Amino acid sequence: MKPRRLTRQVVVGDSRVGFVRIGGGVPGRDGTPTTPAPVSVQTMTAGYTHDIDACVREINKLAAAGADIVRVAVPEKKDTEALRHILPQVRVPIVADVHFHFQRALEAVEAGVHKIRLNPGNINDRAQVIEVIRACKAKGLPIRVGVNEGSIIERKDKQKRMKELGAVFSAHKHGHMLAIMIAKLEEYLDIFYEEDFHDITISAKSMDAALVIDAYTEIAARFDHPLHLGVTHAGPKETGTIRSVVALGGLLINGIGETIRISYANDPIFEVQDGLELLYCLGLRERVGVDLIACPTCGRIQVDLFTLIQDVRKALADQVKVPMKVAVMGCIVNGPGEAEGADVAVFAGDRRGIIYVQGEKVANVPEPEILPRLLAECLTFQDKVLRGEAKLGEKKVEIIPPDPIGELGSGYAKIASGQVEKPATLTIGGI
Ligand code: SF4
Repeated sequence: MKPRRLTRQVVVGDSRVGFVRIGGGVPGRDGTPTTPAPVSVQTMTAGYTHDIDACVREINKLAAAGADIVRVAVPEKKDTEALRHILPQVRVPIVADVHFHFQRALEAVEAGVHKIRLNPGNINDRAQVIEVIRACKAKGLPIRVGVNEGSIIERKDKQKRMKELGAVFSAHKHGHMLAIMIAKLEEYLDIFYEEDFHDITISAKSMDAALVIDAYTEIAARFDHPLHLGVTHAGPKETGTIRSVVALGGLLINGIGETIRISYANDPIFEVQDGLELLYCLGLRERVGVDLIACPTCGRIQVDLFTLIQDVRKALADQVKVPMKVAVMGCIVNGPGEAEGADVAVFAGDRRGIIYVQGEKVANVPEPEILPRLLAECLTFQDKVLRGEAKLGEKKVEIIPPDPIGELGSGYAKIASGQVEKPATLTIGGI
């Protein structure tokens, strides 16, 4: 992991919903040093903003799932009017996503929104942009400039600048598009700088993960504004997750990116969960809730492990709030090793499961009792952690694999001889 890039800091929110800081490290305008904020997770509502009750429900659901900032679309006046009713009912900073109609931005600012997103590709009239900048400045609101692939070049010296940038990127796979994006950003940001407005975040999204990495890398080298990472039109969750994680993960590993949005065509709650998981995996955010370790299952399992893993995941997501490590392992091949590093663990075999708490064996139960016993142990352990009687990640003893004939019946012997007994009902993946 490379050290985080230092940027200006942007603050989104108010005293009622709380303040979310984005980026930091470069001293503020008054010369006070800013500390880089944790990378924040954003998402966008999927429903209509003018459907006030549904929109409030969706925003609150996303905030409860861990979204730091939520964006809403405001294509029509009835959407910006709805903001007046929505904002008092939510507890997370809200960004108004504005395209085509600069009046929507002015209305959203008036309604009390916490940030505006503008697209230079479709709001590029200088006077209109200045009007939005001045409205935001008067209320201390930041603006995200979101250059999407394909933004239009309008600047007067565009031929000259494109030639210069074209030469810079001539050997680059995405040279032409990079030249367009950088030129558009320079042109657009000049308007902001002329207005002495610097509360800016930048995004440069594409559906091409490699282009996203290249574009943000170039922008990071040229501007000190915090970057909002994202892949646009990433597709359905099945492929969109990989597209987003490859691009965003690649950038974050290189220290680039101050706020992220994973996006795909599905319930945005998954975007929040995946965004947080990406940050947890990279050590960029402190985990909230369980870190579930589970084996992928294979032909050695002797319990219905896939179902068990899903049941454990769902139950723990609701009930455990401390970042404990829980391992659910299918057999004694890798079970003892993973159980050693986990706070609570089970490894199964021969229709039974042996349960450990911080390396100490607490139970050996038949398959139907594995789930309730494991959950009970997790909750008891959580209580101890909260009372200060136990510490997360503290291994007490070395786990010795069970006696093959004794504790797990003949499981080990069957594995060794290749005669693996399968459960009567076995779930494999989602099939
Ligand atoms: S822990 Fe055992 S069952 Fe699970 S994948 Fe590894 S070898 Fe297979």
